[in-house]
Amino acid sequence: MGLRPLGATGLRVSAIGFGASPLGNEFGHVSQDESTRAVHQAIDSGINFFDVSPYYGRTLAESRLGIALQGKRDKVILATKCGRYDTDRFDFSAERVRSSIDESLQRLRTDYVDLFQAHDIEFGNERQIEEETVPALREIQRSGQARFIGITSYQLGLLVRILQARPVDTVLSYCRFNLLVRDMDNLLTPVAKEKGIGLINASPLHMGLLSESEIPAWHPAPRSVRDAAARVRRICRDRGLNPGQVGISYCLQHPYVATTLVGMASVEQVRTNLGALDVPLDPSLIDEIEAAIGPGRNVVWASGLPENADYAS
Ligand code: NAD
Repeated sequence: MGLRPLGATGLRVSAIGFGASPLGNEFGHVSQDESTRAVHQAIDSGINFFDVSPYYGRTLAESRLGIALQGKRDKVILATKCGRYDTDRFDFSAERVRSSIDESLQRLRTDYVDLFQAHDIEFGNERQIEEETVPALREIQRSGQARFIGITSYQLGLLVRILQARPVDTVLSYCRFNLLVRDMDNLLTPVAKEKGIGLINASPLHMGLLSESEIPAWHPAPRSVRDAAARVRRICRDRGLNPGQVGISYCLQHPYVATTLVGMASVEQVRTNLGALDVPLDPSLIDEIEAAIGPGRNVVWASGLPENADYAS
């Protein structure tokens, strides 16, 4: 699989990255054995970028990934996060950033991560993120516990404002560039590109809606989006195509995104998703999908503090 530059970091990441949130049972139960096999299959197939967070499975995903990476740490570029610890538990203070990296390194069984990110900053105070959280991340970078630092959010405008005020090495957004939603390119991509910041696009399957997996109870998408996703899946199936592969293939065409992060937790899912690299997108398929999406297009749901939202609700 092709490697792409992650902004100006000098790191080269696989076009498909391994999203480890499913290892925390976020999308249904998986075992340690299954998790380990999936991670090993991914490494053996050329995936070198792994993304996790203490939030996923409330530390379970980090612990499982740490076990799976034993003896293989030098083969991967490892990213984790800080600041989000539960659905409603956030702490972006400098003190918590410092304790968080120590805890994550212990669970990940390593003495450094390649990327340390402030997680879902739309739940934090913008001024604190700018004046306290990002400087604390830089301090961790100087200590050698992280090679590079980044920020992640669903809200694109907030990411842009922080990047303008205090540039970091990478930026991650999710569910804002895939078959169903495209506004990442209007808001975030030009700024990331201009500043040479590595752009990570997560959730190409719209957190599972474009796959055949069961939709978890916490999924925030409204009815119109779920119905649009079901129409897209049907169109792909009718053409003998796997909808998830089509969804990933669409994201892989992006000219600036360094890695497309897909959540996966089994050998079969890793194999299927890597198959997306060989799925060419017929323009007539994309046209049919565009026409079928209808009112499910570019729907953005609420996430975080109201003052951090991209669009007034
Ligand atoms: P996704 O769009 O990648 O979808 C994941 C879902 O699709 C899971 O239910 C998974 O089991 C299912 N799936 C994947 N491959 C499949 C296959 N071949 N067959 C059937 N089902 C399949 O959504 P995601 O997991 O939310 O996003 C990917 C990763 O991006 C996350 O794991 C995480 O690492 C990262 N992420 C980060 C943030 C953030 O930092 N704020 C937010 C979202 C995602």
